[in-house]
Amino acid sequence: MAVIDLRSDTITHPTDEMRRAMADAEVGDDVFGEDPSINALQERAAELLGQEAGLLTASGTMSNLVAALTWCSRGDEMIMGQEAHMFWNESAGPSALAGAQVRLVPNEANGRIAAESVAGAIRDASNIHVPASTLVCLENTHNRCSGGVMTPQDTREVVEVAHAAGAAVHLDGARIFNAAVALEVPVAELTKDVDDVSFCLSKALSCPVGSVLCGSQEFITKARKWRKMVGGGMRQAGVLAAAGLVALDTMVERLADDHANARRLAAGLADIDGLTVDPDSIHTNIVIFEVDRDKVGDAREVIAALREDGVLVSHSREQSLRMVTHRHISSTDVDEALSRVNGTVRRLAATN
Ligand SMILES: *Cc1c(COP(=O)(O)O)cnc(C)c1O
Repeated sequence: MAVIDLRSDTITHPTDEMRRAMADAEVGDDVFGEDPSINALQERAAELLGQEAGLLTASGTMSNLVAALTWCSRGDEMIMGQEAHMFWNESAGPSALAGAQVRLVPNEANGRIAAESVAGAIRDASNIHVPASTLVCLENTHNRCSGGVMTPQDTREVVEVAHAAGAAVHLDGARIFNAAVALEVPVAELTKDVDDVSFCLSKALSCPVGSVLCGSQEFITKARKWRKMVGGGMRQAGVLAAAGLVALDTMVERLADDHANARRLAAGLADIDGLTVDPDSIHTNIVIFEVDRDKVGDAREVIAALREDGVLVSHSREQSLRMVTHRHISSTDVDEALSRVNGTVRRLAATN
């Protein structure tokens, strides 16, 4: 029985075309700015996202940290959603290393942050008792909000409020191409208005390593120094960039398949007694669903039981589990996963 791994799209392997491009990549010392493959990827990414310049980083976490370091001084405040990946899953890097205080505002169920919430959180710059609001962080798609999508309009509204108060807007766009594909808009519509944006090559785009941080030339020049300080100056990393260039050419349009599979998965899960999810709320490749504790059991026990039955899922929070569709999951795998989940849940319910 082949294991069906729905824990994350980060488990995707590089394609044969990527491996060939990596083997053949022209490289140089990127700390000297001399790696042609990295330079090509950075330019390509910046152009796609409607920004001036790009910077290859080791990970999404590193991009977010470098953005925080670039925009914030010690004692400044960064505003972000209460479900933000930067708040939950990045080891408090922005606070620990950039010295910025994090202020949380509500995320709507679909991950959106309302411009009014940002407006209400921005501080009075003339008051010496309060920190300066220097940065607002958005996330699109939203990981902990079932891959929810912010539209260009949602994004612009927040940018306007932030800019009116002199704050910059950082977009954690780890899965921004999923958002663009789901909304059927050019990705630049979602990224050109923010002050900087990072996306991951290593998730559904199937690359082994890397993220690209994009922004103005001035921002990237500063960010490049912070990246060096946190140990992210890599040398002949053009072997990684080469995979990234292939990803931008070959891995974006196919995300629609992952989204269709995620909807199929959600519809099937919704039919299983003891599990709750609204399939209409699933627009990209992340499906978060609730497990009824009384009927089925504790979420962590359910994860262990599913593993025994050959389905790997991750924990989201309390009684919620997360499944992510990706390039190694076909619609047949979705149906097989649903049949296994149904069996596991029925068995647990019978013994509970
Ligand atoms: C995965 C993820 C990150 C971090 O990316 P890594 O490359 O794993 O460090 C940041 N933000 C969001 C929304 C993510 O999903």
